[in-house]
Amino acid sequence: MPLSEIKAQERAIGILKKSVSEARVAHAYLFLGPDGVGKHSAAIEFAKLLNCTARETDNCGKCISCSKIEKAIHPDIFIISTEEGQRIIPIDKIRELSARLSLKPFEARYKIAVIDAQSLNKEASNALLKILEEPGADMLFILVAADANALLDTIVSRCQIVRFRPLSRLDVIDILKMDFNIDGNEAGFLADLSGLNIKKALSLRGQDALARKNAVIDEFSSNMPLLDSGNNSIMNLTRDMQQDAMDILLCFYRDVLVYKYTRDISMIMNIDRQEIVLEFAKKKEVASLNSAIDYIEEAKVSLEANVNSKLALKLLQEKLAV
Ligand SMILES: [Zn+2]
Repeated sequence: MPLSEIKAQERAIGILKKSVSEARVAHAYLFLGPDGVGKHSAAIEFAKLLNCTARETDNCGKCISCSKIEKAIHPDIFIISTEEGQRIIPIDKIRELSARLSLKPFEARYKIAVIDAQSLNKEASNALLKILEEPGADMLFILVAADANALLDTIVSRCQIVRFRPLSRLDVIDILKMDFNIDGNEAGFLADLSGLNIKKALSLRGQDALARKNAVIDEFSSNMPLLDSGNNSIMNLTRDMQQDAMDILLCFYRDVLVYKYTRDISMIMNIDRQEIVLEFAKKKEVASLNSAIDYIEEAKVSLEANVNSKLALKLLQEKLAV
């Protein structure tokens, strides 16, 4: 995908393309903006553009350099991010990067490091700062972060900042439909559930999110005791997924409230479950819906605090049944 096809970030993309066309490429960029709005994809496409052997106004996407970067097998492009299940990039990774950057490029114009800068701890940040202070002429750094305050000032001041804007709900739906072939209903639901974060939306999709969403709504709306067994039962989900389930319930109860106030079915998010939304709107009072939302928020906090999750969920179900 050419850099220009990154959607909804025309301003950021314009700055990057201009820096290449005017041959004024900085040594270090900081892509700043909320999670899941296209910063990482833009970094990869920008790396392709910089090293494309057939580039015109954009990367060609087909030359050896572009296709190696696409497959993440280019020897001069380094993606530095956390390992699965980890939150921090250890200093060893930055030391290794430093050693590899000191070699001549194998085949590229630029050696490029794309770094998830917010996951660097203090030690790793200081190690990165040392490299940024004396970069080689053929090195280029693209730091990616949601919040500049989480980074060392001395790192931020060495970077050209490129801002990525938050996406609107329509932007997210559009991107999911156009770039990932997701149909409209599911795209809308994924947009809402992910908090307008494309990356999260795609990971939720992989987990068959629609079926899971409905399993959660069914389990909590049925008044049957939660089951300790059964594949789809919330009790057997991972803690992360149980937390996502709380967001699903919040979304459902908000739908009920919204419908109660507006009587407008087009305003609700769980459009595929309108029957049960209507049923709840009929039988529940506003006060009890508001309490339900409070209970779910409390359960969410408990799950984050590592309490016994089965107990927290059973308690929640009892409270919601009242
Ligand atoms: Zn190319």
